[in-house]
Amino acid sequence: MKKFLKITIVTAAIIFILAVFKNGYFWLGKALLTEKAENVRESLGQNQLVEKRTVTLMAVGDVMMHVGQIWSGYDSEKGSFDYSEFFCEVKDLISSADLSMANLETTLAGNKEKFTGYPRFNSPDEIADALKEAGFDIIFTANNHSLDRGEKGVLRTIKVLREKGLTPVGTNETKEDLETVAVKEANGIKIAFLAYTYGTNGIPLPKDKPFLVNLIDEEIILQDIRSAKEKADAVVVYLHFGQEYSRQPSAEQRNLAQNLIIGGADLIVASHPHVVQPGEWLEVEDAMGRLTKKYIAYSLGNFISAQSFPHTDEGVILKVTLEKDPELNLVSVVSVEEIPTWVHKYKEKGRMKYVIKLGRKTQ
Ligand SMILES: [Zn+2]
Repeated sequence: MKKFLKITIVTAAIIFILAVFKNGYFWLGKALLTEKAENVRESLGQNQLVEKRTVTLMAVGDVMMHVGQIWSGYDSEKGSFDYSEFFCEVKDLISSADLSMANLETTLAGNKEKFTGYPRFNSPDEIADALKEAGFDIIFTANNHSLDRGEKGVLRTIKVLREKGLTPVGTNETKEDLETVAVKEANGIKIAFLAYTYGTNGIPLPKDKPFLVNLIDEEIILQDIRSAKEKADAVVVYLHFGQEYSRQPSAEQRNLAQNLIIGGADLIVASHPHVVQPGEWLEVEDAMGRLTKKYIAYSLGNFISAQSFPHTDEGVILKVTLEKDPELNLVSVVSVEEIPTWVHKYKEKGRMKYVIKLGRKTQ
């Protein structure tokens, strides 16, 4: 009997301690709530907790279309192209994300112009079909090859991508286009996408249409981030920058990317060096002293290309989970995974073929 009493007292003490801890914690949490979050709580009933939401994003680097790749998808009997083979082994993974993005480093200027690889790219529209079928949603079009086929190339690329159900980001058909932020919603989280390139290989933007390609300008990007944050919970910025074939980010890359994170970007994805560069976590403190985690991927490498310099056949699929805490009205990067890929090149019936493989290349 005595033993039973003892157990009861101990149990009651534990419950009491837990209750104090829970209330204390709750009080502490509540003290941190923003005015906006208080409104959310009120609208949902005072004691109803708002669940945290997550969204999974995937990003890959450069989708290039060298001349060998162009003809790898040609069916001489039908006279048509099909590039689904490129993505057949990564399709399920890419499709498993809530939103996926890639940099298209070529133009879709149409078959009236010759299809060409480096240095002035023009690829069959079927590469857009293959990207859509692989599960991509957002296609970054701001890169040093955006203007390879001039104004016509930029405009037709945007048109074709849209027709295929993809969202081009980084080039603009009109001035209004430039001012319209691409926002996608998944699991109740709104994400804005912005994209910029360091340049266009010396091809000038038409004087009467300077809005065609978004160029890197820190002040403009910071302003765009601020506008995007009014329309979305999180902002993803794609940068086409860095030193080609350099496996470490430069001081300039780090400086710009970090300033953009401090300026409000939640995730930065980048490519152009054609090789993978290590990423970096950042912890940012907001005006209320709250800390959130952000991430910068300095170069995701080539996703697909026919390049043969060392490491240019390697890339990563960046898998990022963003979490939104509706009570605190905060978005943070909660996990990042860099899934390695490489391009398997082989010959079939005298023709080069290309398939993106998961894992690391074994020499
Ligand atoms: Zn590039």
